[in-house]
Amino acid sequence: MKNSTLTNLVNEMAAGSIRVVDLTVPLSADTPIIGLPEEFKQSPAFKMEKISHFDKDGPAWYWNSFSCGEHTGTHFDAPAHWVTGQNYKDGCTDTIPPAKLVAAANVIDVSKEAAENPDYLLSSAKIEEWEKEHGKIEAGTWVLMRTDWSKRSTKDFLNYAEDGPHTPGPSVECMEFLAKERDILGFGVETIGTDAGQAFAFDPAFPAHHLMHGNNKFGLASLTNLDQLPPKGALIVAAPLKIVQGSGSPLRVIAITA
Ligand code: MN
Repeated sequence: MKNSTLTNLVNEMAAGSIRVVDLTVPLSADTPIIGLPEEFKQSPAFKMEKISHFDKDGPAWYWNSFSCGEHTGTHFDAPAHWVTGQNYKDGCTDTIPPAKLVAAANVIDVSKEAAENPDYLLSSAKIEEWEKEHGKIEAGTWVLMRTDWSKRSTKDFLNYAEDGPHTPGPSVECMEFLAKERDILGFGVETIGTDAGQAFAFDPAFPAHHLMHGNNKFGLASLTNLDQLPPKGALIVAAPLKIVQGSGSPLRVIAITA
């Protein structure tokens, strides 16, 4: 069956008028991982072990095994990740409907605000201001928060202080607004997790997790190259590994954009 929309897309990609942008950071033992207070179990870093490399263990083949926490590097947060989202039958990495893995993106640029204030919180007022210029955020689309955080060194990316990490994220009321008033697909960020560094002290704590997953919505963390996307119009392919009953996974996030 011929579909002119898909044919045009393929032709425009071949011609270079539609670009494919990689929103993924490299995954290695150097990939920064989130640190939790010491009373909690920590997530292990990415680890790769050689099986064979054209040697006695496999003379004509190279392959490795790897291990890591599900929430390592550029990764997908499924609703099952959070206590508020644990009962959704379609909320694990293997049960999310595949149609939800391809969706349009709205990119909110708050890179200037985050550069001035590492604890910057995205608000619904800022979203509504953005909508006046770029149009309303449609149901079932991603909202991606551009902070340029992915351009930082590991130390400044994590930005730890004695009172915890200082990194930007969404406010509680912003997550309420996007979950309930806009019914978005999920919320993506450049920081190590979808919540602000100080969000442990919010009410409720960790609102991106609490409210997105509590409403069967997704998260994307440690994105990069959001500065290469238009405010509206990019199509995002974000498909986690089909881990049975998984809470999330590292993944390759691809944007298709004019
Ligand atoms: Mn996560």
